[in-house]
Order: sequence, then C-alpha cells, then structure tokens
Amino acid sequence: MNVNKVVILGGGVLGSQIAYQSAFSGFPTVIYDISDEAVDSAKQKVASYPKQYQQDINATDAQIDTANSNLSLTTDLKSAVTGASVIIEAVPERLDIKESTYKNLAPFIADDALLLTNSSTLVPSQLIDFVPNKQRFMAMHFANLIWIHNVAEIMWAPDTPQSTIDDAENFAKQIHMIPILIRKEISGYIMNSIFLPMINAALSLWANGFSDPISIDKNWMVSMGVDRGPFGFLDIMGLNTAVNIEMGFYENTKDETYQKIADKLNELVKANKLGVATGEGFYHY
Ligand code: NAD
Repeated sequence: MNVNKVVILGGGVLGSQIAYQSAFSGFPTVIYDISDEAVDSAKQKVASYPKQYQQDINATDAQIDTANSNLSLTTDLKSAVTGASVIIEAVPERLDIKESTYKNLAPFIADDALLLTNSSTLVPSQLIDFVPNKQRFMAMHFANLIWIHNVAEIMWAPDTPQSTIDDAENFAKQIHMIPILIRKEISGYIMNSIFLPMINAALSLWANGFSDPISIDKNWMVSMGVDRGPFGFLDIMGLNTAVNIEMGFYENTKDETYQKIADKLNELVKANKLGVATGEGFYHY
C-alpha cells in the first residue's frame, strides 16, 4: 500500500499524538475535528510535542521541522478524507459518536482506504456495520505517549482479508510502532485486559472510601517498584475518557460500582480537572 495522506479523526489526547507521530514519520497528515475550539485545543497539544520528542527520543531540529510541515488541521471533513490512504478514527469512546463519524465520512472515503479505529474497548465487529468500506476496516490501538510507548495493538473482524491486516501491520511499522497482532477479538485488547482491571480496582477503593488516590498510588508504586500508580495513569489517559470507559462497563454489567466511579470522576471533569491535558486531575502538572 502506498501511503500518500493520513487523516486522524479527532485531535484529542490520543488523536493529536497519532497525528504528530505520523507527520514525524514523514507522512502528510491531517487532523479533522468537529469545531474551531476543538481544532485550537488540538493545536495546543501538538505544539507541546516537539519539546517532548527532543527530550525523550532526541529528535533533531530537522525532524521536528519535517513533522510540523507535514501536519495540518481542519474542520472540513470532505477535504480531509478525500484522497486519504489511511484514516485513523480517534473520537470519544461512545458507540453513537463512532457510528455518526463513520456514516459522515462515507461519501468521501476511497474504497481502498485503510480505516482504523483507535478504540480501547469496542472491537471491530461492534463497529463494522457503520463502516462504508468494511473490507478495509480494523482496529489499531495505540498507547498514550505514543513516541515512547510505541506499541500498536492490531485486531480485526472475523472476515477481514489478510491483505488488510498486512497493510495495517506495515503502516504501523512505517510510523515506528511495534505491531502486536491480536488473533481473536477481545474488548480491552491486550494491554487494557491487564490494565483496566487494575485501574478499576484502584477506582473502586477510592469511590467506596477505603483510601485516597495519593495513598493508593503510593502503595502501588513502592510495592511494585514503579514510578507511576493507577491515578497517575488516569491523569495521562484523561478523566473524561475514563468516565466513558466506566459508563461502558456499567452499560454492559449494570454493576452500580461503575456508575459510582463515573459519578466521582465526573465531579473532577465538571471542574475541568481532566488530568495532564488541563494541568490538573488527581495531581497538578
Ligand atoms: P479525547 O476526548 O481526548 O478526544 C476526542 C476528540 O474527538 C476531541 O478532540 C473531540 O473534539 C473529537 N470529536 C468528538 N466528536 C467527534 C466527531 N464526531 N468527529 C471527529 N472528532 C470528534 O479522547 P481520547 O482520549 O483521545 O480518546 C479517543 C479514542 O482513543 C477513544 O476511542 C479512546 O478509547 C481511545 N484511546 C484513548 C487512550 C487514552 O489514553 N486517552 C489510549 C488509547 C486509545
């Protein structure tokens, strides 16, 4: 597959990172978002990456210039999607938003364009009915801080052709990811199948009043010999995303604990304490 243009739908926490990584890897890349405010917010996120790339992976000035010149942002879906070879959807983790996003791009997408979802819990089979080019659709799930945690979890629907899987794997390598193939659909993919039960256990300890976030993190970090605890990770993930994930668990299980956790998280979200993205969540940044 010849990649001439990459489009990221949604320039939020993960979308802005995927876009920058793609531009950094040499591909003309467009971020599409739904409003001028959302585009401005994506621009601010993108503006913080050069320094982080230089600090974390010794990016050179020339590489940063290339990345910056490869990247553009728009609210015009038609101009973004037309002629794109790879489209990566990174809109909020809600089935209704994913559905409307795929339906909206249907008039503009090329039949052979690779369409990838960065969904964390939804699997390709749950989304494929909304997708115009079903044979070219699958999931590529990135990790937060993509330039250092450079893993791409690749998962497909039962009828996805091998050529699409191969194209996705090759594209992942082209943007300097380590592809991890997941051979059967599982909500949570690999990392979140391990990570989310741990996060839920920590959130449940907090929401049920057993302890506070700082103490829980301290306990985990000292005991496990790691430098970040579950609440530190939540701040990086974004507490708005965490609310959507908890509500998804609630819808699936009707377990009231998830609703209670989502309510507690929503108190912080309403105070604009989304985590690293807004400078405050469980911690200050
Ligand atoms: P986010 O809320 O930070 O960003 C979502 C972006 O999508 C926003 O810029 C929003 O304006 C935009 N948006 C909303 N509706 C849209 C639409 N209809 N079309 C286009 N853009 C739209 O969310 P996020 O954390 O970046 O998560 C996005 C996706 O990536 C979710 O599926 C999430 O599960 C997944 N993901 C998140 C993380 C993480 O750590 N945050 C990690 C891996 C995967």
